[in-house]
Amino acid sequence: QLVNMGSFLNDVIDRFEIIAVEKNITFKRKIANSPVYVKIAPDKLMQVLDNVISNAMKYSPEGEAIKIQMLQKEKFLQISIIDKGMGIPPESQTKIFERFYRVDKARARSVGGTGLGLAIAKELIQAHNGEIWAEGEYGKGTTINITLPYLNDQEGEHEL
Ligand code: ATP
Ligand code: MG
Repeated sequence: QLVNMGSFLNDVIDRFEIIAVEKNITFKRKIANSPVYVKIAPDKLMQVLDNVISNAMKYSPEGEAIKIQMLQKEKFLQISIIDKGMGIPPESQTKIFERFYRVDKARARSVGGTGLGLAIAKELIQAHNGEIWAEGEYGKGTTINITLPYLNDQEGEHEL
């Protein structure tokens, strides 16, 4: 299935904005208007974005903004979810994609979850020839980057 990534992202963020009100969290969007299509199952993509965005919300203090941007590079789309929360220690930035791995058990227990979200996300993104990785400074925030190959205009028109 083909997903128009920009409008898909906007729909997902619209939905999150409703629940984010409670935590006084706002979203800043930097998403190109032009349609860019990715071949992926929408429900799977939704699962990945749901987890990454809810992580950003879970691990951010009240009142912070979360930035979500989509950049169209030459060969792939890059989606970044940027929060100003507690961040992840550098040595854990690859481990968070392992099953059941959670940074700081005590802190993790208090926010709830199983530690499976990012492991599932990584499997899904890699199965679509994409990448997912974490960046950021411990104590200052986290950026989760996702890349996915997109269809060029001709291919897109052909399939639609
Ligand atoms: P689940 O997603 O299964 O409900 P979870 O959110 O704990 O549980 P993952 O989504 O796999 O599991 O994340 C793994 C761990 O990575 C988290 O427990 C948390 O310690 C850390 N983490 C993930 N995203 C962030 C973030 N945006 N800021 C700080 N820590 C994060
Ligand atoms: Mg999670």
